Amino acid sequence: MQKIFAANWKLFKSPAETRQFFKNFKEVVSKSTGEVVFFPPAICLEAASESVKGTNIAFGVQNCYAQVQGAFTGENSAQTAKELGAKYILIGHSERRQIFGETDAAIADKVALTQSLGLTPLLCIGETLAERESTHTYRILETQLELGLAKADKTKPVVIAYEPVWAIGTGKVATPEQVAETHTDVQTILTKLGFKAPILYGGSVKADNAAGLIKQPHVGGFLVGGASLEVDSFIKIASV
Ligand code: PEP
Repeated sequence: MQKIFAANWKLFKSPAETRQFFKNFKEVVSKSTGEVVFFPPAICLEAASESVKGTNIAFGVQNCYAQVQGAFTGENSAQTAKELGAKYILIGHSERRQIFGETDAAIADKVALTQSLGLTPLLCIGETLAERESTHTYRILETQLELGLAKADKTKPVVIAYEPVWAIGTGKVATPEQVAETHTDVQTILTKLGFKAPILYGGSVKADNAAGLIKQPHVGGFLVGGASLEVDSFIKIASV
């Protein structure tokens, strides 16, 4: 199955920088062995949409509200993202959970709405360092998947990103052994819940560690933050 290489730009890049990035990225995208997906800031979505027109580069927003419209100041509409050509919605990133207090219940509603619009939710899960050290990782991931997918349609696409919170933006990448073991656990949980979904790894993926991680069992690609902001480093990762 084709790997997925997803870029989470967080709150970086302006519309002009987005256009410049894609101008350069389109020249090298054919080196990628998989599907590439970008999550620019919502305010850059139109610039991304126009930049990737006519290519097979996919994009989406980093978050959406669980309703398509209404009096919800400051939120993103998945419906509007779809109208701009988005294919994916990133849901439940650890920064959303930790900084903005996003709950598993809210995440479940966003996953359901995303699927109902014909878009693919990219649902992020992951344990904190304290949870890993107290060996609760399996239980944490099982709960996040059970609750986050509680309203999901098993017949529609969904992608999971396993992102250990302690590895996001820290430079502390999980070892290939930790990735192998945890992705196998995530696969077991998904099978038990009745879902078939690619499982991406995220957490300090860089050009020099991607090749070792992609070989691990049940690694369906990567979700990349910092190293996705530069064309050179991201295309190296997307070409492993
Ligand atoms: C992320 O933002 O999902 C992420 C994995 O970030 P980084 O690659 O910078 O650790």
